[in-house]
Amino acid sequence: GHPVFRDMPTTIFEHMSARARTSGAINLGQGFPESAGPREVLAAAAQAMLERSSQYPPMPGLPELRAAVADHYARHQALNLASEEVIVTSGATEALAASLLALVRPGDEVLMFAPLYDAYLPLVERAGGVAKVLRLAPPRWSLDRAALEAAIGPRTRFILLNNPLNPAGAVLREEELALLADLCVAHDLIAICDEVWEHMVFDGAAHRPLMAFPGMRDRTVKIGSAGKIFSVTGWKVGWMCAAPPLAVLLARAHQFLTFTTPPALQWACAQALAWSADWFDNQRAAYRASRDRLAAGLGAAGYAVLPGAGTWFLSIDLPASGIAMDDRTFCDRIVEEAGVAAIPVSAFYPAHPVTHLVRLCFCKSDAMLDEAVARLAASR
Ligand code: PMP
Ligand code: GLN
Repeated sequence: GHPVFRDMPTTIFEHMSARARTSGAINLGQGFPESAGPREVLAAAAQAMLERSSQYPPMPGLPELRAAVADHYARHQALNLASEEVIVTSGATEALAASLLALVRPGDEVLMFAPLYDAYLPLVERAGGVAKVLRLAPPRWSLDRAALEAAIGPRTRFILLNNPLNPAGAVLREEELALLADLCVAHDLIAICDEVWEHMVFDGAAHRPLMAFPGMRDRTVKIGSAGKIFSVTGWKVGWMCAAPPLAVLLARAHQFLTFTTPPALQWACAQALAWSADWFDNQRAAYRASRDRLAAGLGAAGYAVLPGAGTWFLSIDLPASGIAMDDRTFCDRIVEEAGVAAIPVSAFYPAHPVTHLVRLCFCKSDAMLDEAVARLAASR
């Protein structure tokens, strides 16, 4: 094909979801809840759709939503954002694209961590950036000071961080975030923080935004997704938060990408962000129970499950489960033979992939999880 398309392959999510559809497999691949979405979230949107305008809302976002995001982060993460520092986007995906297009200049190095969310590399490269990818090692996926320092050079301008980390389910520890903040300050780096999984942290782990660390307030772009927070992945309502000098640039990129995001959905998200902490705690508890159910079922079927304290995903370790196949072979086989779609973790590596881990999505009904486990147990 045309050389320009080489760096934009079909994503693994689309590929595996298509295979799940054609083969009728249970789809534990692409990350989305089985339910249509929480009733109260859908009702807020339905009401807004009937009662409010569906014409272009303001370019940087509905004032109600910008204020609600700032207020939500004040209550949940002790951040002090002004609503002018919040730019609403069409999903975190647009926020990532807008941030990179707005800030990266040709030749700038962007330090990223593998496993790497699949949109990062094509976006960084199309923005003219040079990717510097640091590999984290399973099962702890921890950051190492010496490796980080060695990866930062005179042309490094950004770190692009996903925390909690998809697909690993890892949540960075306080010391690791402090280390990143130190390095950003010492080397004058801007941090682009993809925190879409901020509410999906379990086992007593708390989400700490990098923006809250000393020196980071004015050098961080914090990205969030209402699709994730409210279990409505198709809504594509997201945002990017940054101090005014950065926010102005982000908004300029946003105006040429999508300009706006459906106003009824923005309005519904503004309502929902203000709900009590109980709502978020209950949702988290339900997801944790689903994770534990899938992990226990897989464990009983002889699969070795990696520990993970965040996201909607868990991983199984193939060799530790006594399976002598790489992740892609295993995923190809189970989608056809067991009728379960999963994601090979190697898809999250531009080079030198980890090939022994398979990601499974657990935000499904008990019945669906049990059926998937029964199928995977029978296929052993
Ligand atoms: N970043 C990460 C790490 C994700 O996992 C996802 C979606 N799964 C996104 C960004 C995209 O979020 P959105 O659907 O809001 O565009
Ligand atoms: N982020 C979702 C996942 O990790 C997929 C989103 C997409 O399909 N682009 O499964």
